[in-house]
Amino acid sequence: MPERREAIRRASQADRTLAVTPAAIEERQCIPRRWPYLVLCLSAAVASSALAARCLPGPDSGALLVMAILLTAALRFGSDWARGHAIHRQAAAALVFVIVPMFLFGLGMTLWTVRQGLRWDIAVTALLWVGSIAAVYLRRKPAVAFAAQLAMWAAAALVHESLAAAVTLFVALIVAAMVVRDQMREMREAEHRRQASDRVQTRARDILADYERTRQGWFWETDRRATLTYISPPIAEALGSTPEVMIGQRLIELFDFTDSDQESERTLVFHLSARSPFQELPVRSAITSEERWWSVSGRPIFDDFDNFVGFRGSGADLTERKRLQEHASRLANYDSLTGLANRFQMSQALERILAMPQEAQRSCAVLLLDLDRFKQVNDTIGHPAGDALLVQVARRLEEAIGHTGQVGRLGGDEFQIIVPGAIERDALGELATRIISSLAQPYAIEGQRVVIGASIGIAVSPDDGTSSEMLIRHVDLALYAAKDGGRGRFHFYAHDLLADAEARAALEKDLRDAVSTGGLELYYQPVVSTASEKITGFEALLRWLHPTQGWIPPNAFVGIAEDCGLIAQIGEWALRSACHDLAQWPDHIHCAVNLSPLQFANPNLPIIVTSAIAQAGIDPGRLELEITESVFLSDDEGADAMFAALKGIGVRLVLDDFGTGYSSLGYLKKAPFDKIKIDQSFVRGATEAGSRNGAIIASITSLAHALGMDTTAEGVETLDELDLVRMHGCSHVQGFIYERPLTAAAATERLQTGLSAGVRAPREARAPRQHSVRKVVLRHLDQVYNGTVRNISTSGALIEGLWSVPIGTTFQLELSNSHQVVATARWCEEDRMGVEFATLLERDMSGAIAALQATAPASAARGMFASAGGIT
Ligand code: C2E
Ligand code: CA
Ligand code: CA
Repeated sequence: MPERREAIRRASQADRTLAVTPAAIEERQCIPRRWPYLVLCLSAAVASSALAARCLPGPDSGALLVMAILLTAALRFGSDWARGHAIHRQAAAALVFVIVPMFLFGLGMTLWTVRQGLRWDIAVTALLWVGSIAAVYLRRKPAVAFAAQLAMWAAAALVHESLAAAVTLFVALIVAAMVVRDQMREMREAEHRRQASDRVQTRARDILADYERTRQGWFWETDRRATLTYISPPIAEALGSTPEVMIGQRLIELFDFTDSDQESERTLVFHLSARSPFQELPVRSAITSEERWWSVSGRPIFDDFDNFVGFRGSGADLTERKRLQEHASRLANYDSLTGLANRFQMSQALERILAMPQEAQRSCAVLLLDLDRFKQVNDTIGHPAGDALLVQVARRLEEAIGHTGQVGRLGGDEFQIIVPGAIERDALGELATRIISSLAQPYAIEGQRVVIGASIGIAVSPDDGTSSEMLIRHVDLALYAAKDGGRGRFHFYAHDLLADAEARAALEKDLRDAVSTGGLELYYQPVVSTASEKITGFEALLRWLHPTQGWIPPNAFVGIAEDCGLIAQIGEWALRSACHDLAQWPDHIHCAVNLSPLQFANPNLPIIVTSAIAQAGIDPGRLELEITESVFLSDDEGADAMFAALKGIGVRLVLDDFGTGYSSLGYLKKAPFDKIKIDQSFVRGATEAGSRNGAIIASITSLAHALGMDTTAEGVETLDELDLVRMHGCSHVQGFIYERPLTAAAATERLQTGLSAGVRAPREARAPRQHSVRKVVLRHLDQVYNGTVRNISTSGALIEGLWSVPIGTTFQLELSNSHQVVATARWCEEDRMGVEFATLLERDMSGAIAALQATAPASAARGMFASAGGIT
């Protein structure tokens, strides 16, 4: 940069020296360049005087005249020395080459008249002649001019020794000095004015030169045929040429209109032919090495007779501004993360299609896409990972759609696709399927494998709407339906969706009424301990008796209540009612109340809970609050503080639906849960062959056990499921196998008949099976233990309940009151062991093991291996 500036400075200095014209230099000299020409004049004066008077000068006057002529001529040879800048040298030169010769000439002429009788009138004429011509030569140097004149005439006065002449000469000298001074002043001022105007011109030229050189702008001029007559050199250079070569080329050749800019070309050509001015026309330069844009202006020029002579104009670089503009328009129209069109751009695109002049052109389909499980990724791996995922999703979407439509990101994990044209629904369905399956392929994000899904809603114009508002509303409903239908699907908009939405709105209204008129009720489902098979508590579950639709399950209205803000009121009511009912029940009975994540996010929750407990007058430890994993999705600090506050009250915290969310184990360690509820979906199907749910249940229970938490298996319906959850060590069971949710009154009644819970599943349904649940008694030496048989065959059994039994230990096994068999431990893992019977058991007619048909033996006192806590 500094070198560049220096170069520019040097160049402009060079320009400035050039700017001092030869005339100006000449003016500063004391003696004009042409002074030696006076020799001719002197010679002619002498010659004509001699001719006119027919008398030659004498040797003295002749010598003087010759010397005058020679000295004058000598300037030719001494000019280099004489024409310097130094003032004293110039003065000396003036003396030698001007004043002395003039004096010698005056003296010579006077002596000629006096000695050789040249007539005075002729002599004076010659002196005047020479004097005036000398004055003309010396016009710019009045002082020298006067000095020359005086020297010439003083010689005449000297010869005559006349006092009058001397006085006259003296007066003349004074007058001359004054006139010279005045003249000098005037000339100095003129010189200053000239220099000032010079400077202005030079500055203007410098500025323009700088302007051109730095390529901030450039100039051009054309003749009447629009061929260049001037072009700024740097631009010619940039175009790989020189001004000399370019002059004569057509102006239009400076620009590149090849691919895009037909519009600018037309405008330029129009103005050139119409001879009208144009302003800041954006054009692409013909520079091939890089993409540069210019803004070009021009106006026609006319001569004094108003004849058009061509165009003159300027250009400026537009590249940077154009880049900024493009950047700004990208920001306004494109999503900065993915580079896809943004919401604004997409809605513009849709509006454009819907406003097409012909009806056929207005057909289009709008697909609205929402990622499933995106939030989990964002929350567990972090936002940068979420961003990286969105970018990959965008690329896959673009690939899947190709040229059939336009993709945009509306925000978050919501994408929109517009497919123009009338497209068959089948084809749209195929497109949606293709997109869903492409997005469902695993992603590699920060070295992790991530799998997400996508749901798509589709609305088609004109069938589903002809305005963008309507299409957008309908495609929203379609997406909603797709998600509702289980995610990972697409759904076309259909009129019944609108009906559904309307029904939902009606339900919302009814729910408001129900909340204010007490139409909601709490049901209580018993929670049973696996060890004792006794009811230890209840879970409070909401029910709504709708005036026309009958009972409505909570899944059908809790979501609505959350959406419309009713959940706070309903939740508080449930909490207070549950505490109130709990107060009626025995002290060791617990009651669990479900909390919506929205309630959990309300900072007033601890106050509400405290007040409900105080109002009912119950021990806070009897109240359990069931929270789902989704509470961890929001901010961490708020959740931590809420946990601490609730824990401070003394209530028990239960993690509900474990395993259905993103189940990060991190928060299990952090949050102070007392219990984990294993979701029904794990219990369901766990007994099927090849299912891994059993393994999942086992790992959840061992994790909970390690963290000192209870576990409740939810939704246990069959004996097999009960066996399984027991085998895997769940501490509590909740399910239809024991009891369905009961009204508060029924629950109270149920407690009065005793706490024992009976299995409600039909036993015969599973009689032929080899596995079973049976309490048995084992004797070893003189100790007695309780155990549970899980699997049994005629040769052996899987027995649970005895910890760390040494292999080879032999037991007396009481399978029923009347059946005993000797069993030897073959393996043992924690509290489970496999035993081998000394004798084979018998099967009955149905194939079931006969010994199990009889009543189970009465349980025995606890022994060494029997405690659930481990070896004692
Ligand atoms: P949840 O917390 O998982 O409640 C257990 C659900 O499983 C209950 O459904 C219950 O009736 C059902 N269930 C229990 N045992 C079995 C079984 O053996 N088989 C089958 N198939 N289902 C069984 P319900 O009462 O319909 O409640 C559904 C969900 O509604 C609850 O799921 C809970 O998330 C929500 N909910 C219920 N009451 C409230 C409440 O007061 N507040 C809030 N925020 N949510 C509630
Ligand atoms: Ca629950
Ligand atoms: Ca649950």
